[in-house]
Amino acid sequence: MKQIALYGKGGIGKSTTAANLSAALAEDGLDILQIGCDPKHDSTRMLMHGTWIPTVLDLIRERGEAEITVGDVVYRGFSGVRCVEAGGPEPGIGCAGRGIIATFQLLERLEALKGDVIVYDVLGDVVCGGFAMPMRDGYAQEIYLVTSGELMSIYAANNIAKAIARLSRRVRSRCTLGGVICNAKNIEGERDLVEEFARRINSRLIAYIPRDRVVQIAELQKQTVVEYAPDSNQAAVYRGLARTVYENKTTSIPKPLETDELESFALEFVQV
Ligand code: ADP
Ligand code: MG
Repeated sequence: MKQIALYGKGGIGKSTTAANLSAALAEDGLDILQIGCDPKHDSTRMLMHGTWIPTVLDLIRERGEAEITVGDVVYRGFSGVRCVEAGGPEPGIGCAGRGIIATFQLLERLEALKGDVIVYDVLGDVVCGGFAMPMRDGYAQEIYLVTSGELMSIYAANNIAKAIARLSRRVRSRCTLGGVICNAKNIEGERDLVEEFARRINSRLIAYIPRDRVVQIAELQKQTVVEYAPDSNQAAVYRGLARTVYENKTTSIPKPLETDELESFALEFVQV
């Protein structure tokens, strides 16, 4: 079983990328479990054709952990992808990462952490306790950083690289960096910038995903691109990403940049 996690800044395109990756792998006949680890709980929505599935945290609040069965939390979406949403706290109370911790505990108890590939879709703005869970204790072996060429998303990716570097020193953790995925915002020189960032943190750019209107159109139809426009260039890009990730054997321990290095690096790519 391969366990991978996609991390990145909020709104960068993690869920879109993760759902299309899962859809493409499932079409190849693989048994996929996608776990949304973002309080936004919309990771699996396109796989579920627009349905908001109940989150683990909501179910725990409503009926208590002991009463929950696999059928309450795991839902089959497009091409049989099994979908789970960790959920988040009620605004103003509780910790955002708690849903993830509770989800891991529950799925362990239900023996539901299985399949050919588990895809964790994780918010990477803060890599605190809960959000670092998928990297710890041997869950995700490979982390993929999703970023555009915008400084703030590179900044978040660099922070996640710091967490990977730190956690990789632990005995029980097997987490490594699988690569960097550029989800384009159509910024000038974006591909070169992200490629160079990946190289400087001791990794590599494993996929460049163009910005394409078909993503929004598919979203309005409540489907992944792989399902809605299977013959499109964008679907081919997601299938290529799925193959690359599935077959990836080249991972690394990242060497994150210091903040001033990061800022001067970004300046090299901007024409002022
Ligand atoms: P995240 O999960 O990182 O918060 P989402 O996957 O929800 O981000 O994406 C945020 C928005 O960006 C969505 O409306 C999505 O349709 C759009 N988007 C993501 N990737 C692309 C792309 N390659 N081309 C066009 N729009 C995209
Ligand atoms: Mg998301």
